[in-house]
Amino acid sequence: MFQNLSEKLESAFKGLKGQSRITELNIASTVKEIRRALIDADVNYKIAKEFTDKIKDKAVGEKVINAISPGQLMTKIVKDELTDLMGGQEAVFNAKGNPAVILIAGLQGSGKTTFSGKLANFLKSKKGLSPLLVAADIYRPAAMEQLRVLGEQIGVDVHIEPDNKDAVSIAQNAVKEARSKNKNVVIIDTAGRLAIDEQMMTEVANVRAAVNPQEILFVVDSMTGQDAVNTAKAFNDRLDFTGVVLTKLDGDTRGGAALSIKYTVNKPIKFVSSGEKMDTLDVFYPERMAQRILGMGDITTLVERAQAQFDEAEAKKLEGKIRKNKFDFADFKAQLEQLKKMGNMKDLLGMIPGLGNKLKDIEINDDAFKGIEAMINSMTPAERADPDLIDTSRKKRIARGAGKDISEVNNFMKQFDQMRDMMKNMNKMGMFGKMMGMKR
Ligand code: GDP
Repeated sequence: MFQNLSEKLESAFKGLKGQSRITELNIASTVKEIRRALIDADVNYKIAKEFTDKIKDKAVGEKVINAISPGQLMTKIVKDELTDLMGGQEAVFNAKGNPAVILIAGLQGSGKTTFSGKLANFLKSKKGLSPLLVAADIYRPAAMEQLRVLGEQIGVDVHIEPDNKDAVSIAQNAVKEARSKNKNVVIIDTAGRLAIDEQMMTEVANVRAAVNPQEILFVVDSMTGQDAVNTAKAFNDRLDFTGVVLTKLDGDTRGGAALSIKYTVNKPIKFVSSGEKMDTLDVFYPERMAQRILGMGDITTLVERAQAQFDEAEAKKLEGKIRKNKFDFADFKAQLEQLKKMGNMKDLLGMIPGLGNKLKDIEINDDAFKGIEAMINSMTPAERADPDLIDTSRKKRIARGAGKDISEVNNFMKQFDQMRDMMKNMNKMGMFGKMMGMKR
């Protein structure tokens, strides 16, 4: 995510090495590089210029005290400004009502239906609410079916009227159904077009007028950069939406949409979505995003994702095993299962400070785990519990069972040993307990 931008900012700060005071003169090229980086990330020129003017104002005259480098000082200033640009504080999401109505709007393909499912799942599992999903895309039967399947997957009811061609009455009927079935939040997935079109806008505006939503969320594909910002403007003019959802942050996004939307429509980003799995939805925190852009990682989100998956008693048990160097293959397999549930691997690793920028050209594929799992599956329970038991003839058998070469088994065993050592060290630093979901 935003790797190009991150790299360019990092290199912009490097130019300041060795300066004891930031002056108009020695900061000039850094500021220019920052502006360039923003424009390359598809941030509008005017926003980029205003942004760097502010940075310059703040930085010039700052004394560089001994403990920090000028680059660090600039990083801090830029972090604060990026946070501001993206909205400053975390925005409030209002799901209170009887029922609360959440209207989802955006272009076709932006990720509305996927997001509707994720939001329902989020409100159900994290907020204890009882959602009803509504398929109000009357033009595409496939969209209704997609929502029905998602609903089934997450255990949320979906209101569908295949023969009703009036989105307004579908929405009204759904609200009635929610009341009668004690559902406290209704999420309406509306139709989108490939480009902004008058009929679509009128339809969404009519649905809006009929059901009076607590939240109107505009969903936008973050890969579309400045186009995203223009679309946002058009939707906001008609709908006066309450918040933005950025999707596909797991893709190769440059960052323009995330950085420009708040400035342009003055509406906060409320959620970011990064993947097709139903549990890869995050509340948007401007400061955490700024940290990620600057390669400072996002340990807070990582820990939260971990906390959602790992239970505390289990984590304590695991910590004990690690301390005694008794962590075995069965534990490893269980951890892999849980790790996979936390989301896309590359996305997760990118949250580790300092690692994000280094992952750019590395292909990290979730399937890579499949080979490891095959090897663990080929072990007997006794071997899993006691890795030291595994001698050459056992290795040969495991390799055969997993369809691997014995050298691959050897490599994996070696890595496992290294990992155990590393975990022991991490555990000493208190890091592992935190990662594994111990309460802070
Ligand atoms: P809609 O037309 O706005 O309802 O969009 P969909 O929800 O059908 O999504 C369009 C495509 O984008 C589908 O193939 C989704 O699987 C995919 N998609 C949606 N959200 C994300 C996301 O956050 N990351 C990725 N990689 N793909 C997504």
